[in-house]
Amino acid sequence: MPIDVLIVGQGLAGSLLAWELMRRHVRVIVIDSGGINASQVAAGLINPVTGQRLVKTAELERLLPAAMACYQQLAEVFKQSFFIPMPMLRILKTERERQVARQRLGRDEYRGFLKDCPSPPSGIIGSFGMLQQQQTGYLKTRSLLQCLQNYLLASGGYRQVSLDYREIVLRPHLQWRDIQPRHIVFCEGYQASANPWFGGLPFQPAKGEILDCGTASECPAWILNFGYWMIPTDGHHFRLGATFDPVNLDTRPSEPARNQLLQALDRVSPGLRPISVLEHQAGIRPATVDKQPFIGAHSVHRNLHIFNGFGAKGSLAIPWYARQFAASLDQAELVPATSHVKRYYDSHFPVRNSA
Ligand SMILES: Cc1cc2nc3c(=O)[nH]c(=O)nc-3n(C[C@H](O)[C@H](O)[C@H](O)COP(=O)(O)OP(=O)(O)OC[C@H]3O[C@@H](n4cnc5c(N)ncnc54)[C@H](O)[C@@H]3O)c2cc1C
Repeated sequence: MPIDVLIVGQGLAGSLLAWELMRRHVRVIVIDSGGINASQVAAGLINPVTGQRLVKTAELERLLPAAMACYQQLAEVFKQSFFIPMPMLRILKTERERQVARQRLGRDEYRGFLKDCPSPPSGIIGSFGMLQQQQTGYLKTRSLLQCLQNYLLASGGYRQVSLDYREIVLRPHLQWRDIQPRHIVFCEGYQASANPWFGGLPFQPAKGEILDCGTASECPAWILNFGYWMIPTDGHHFRLGATFDPVNLDTRPSEPARNQLLQALDRVSPGLRPISVLEHQAGIRPATVDKQPFIGAHSVHRNLHIFNGFGAKGSLAIPWYARQFAASLDQAELVPATSHVKRYYDSHFPVRNSA
């Protein structure tokens, strides 16, 4: 069966790329092994200004409008909201953070993203003050992925199967089982390390754990950011996350991570006690050493591509990159050099078994 693009992986990267391609009338089939992936575990937080130094995300002026437009369009098509806008209260943890916050508040480019918070809400403890963060919210990744999977299934564009790379025939034309795609795009998240063509790229995966919790108290109407974050999902439920562990790369939830998250929340919002943990999940973020995604064609096999490496910012970044990637597939290259895999052509390509 001839098609245009075979996508490997139905996480947020593969799903949103498939959506973008289908909008352009490209014939797509997505395959996925069907387990729980990082995208389903993720909180889907979109936060334009992050880290202890309160830095505005690079390319934000492109990424944020593209993400909002994409999730709005999906909401219209599937008749449900996937992105939930919600302001964020940022609790400053040190004197240094307070100074940085003051500097940022005085800068024009942070206007619209950060606001002073002179009278902190009661019940929240923050000895170094607080900030209001704007244009924040979270993506309901699980429902989005389910809707897109159903959509793909309805058009015969989804198969649940674990790809054995040895089944891919490169010459005289690309072939996988009964499918002859013009291109294959690998969106395997952290499992890309097993990929014979792209597995040598400098990924830096990091495990994250997240809790779904209930409380008898009323949850606040904003996201709480205190190094970790708490996202209220309704009046008495919230998600609490996420740990960051680049060493233990398994997907098993752990007792120390659970305690770490609960204790950190208790220090800033003791009023939520007692908290019941309803679900505890772990996943692996497909982060990269230079913090930029890996996008583009293989140096030797030009019809094999990667669309991966979105780290902890998939919800914000994937829609814009999907748009650029889709537009570049047959035309001029529109992916910025900083995120294109060609930045590694000299050092990491051709990678294992690339001939
Ligand atoms: C605890 C946690 C919290 C997070 N919080 C946020 C957040 O708040 N905001 C945010 O933007 N991001 C967050 N992230 C990061 C986010 O999950 C990623 O940026 C994004 O989901 C990555 O999507 P992906 O499609 O690249 O990978 P994945 O979601 O991992 O999807 C990869 C898919 O490829 C499939 N696959 C792999 N190999 C094969 C194969 N050989 N055959 C078939 N299928 C295969 C897998 O089954 C999987 O479904 C978080 C991550 C974690 C773990």
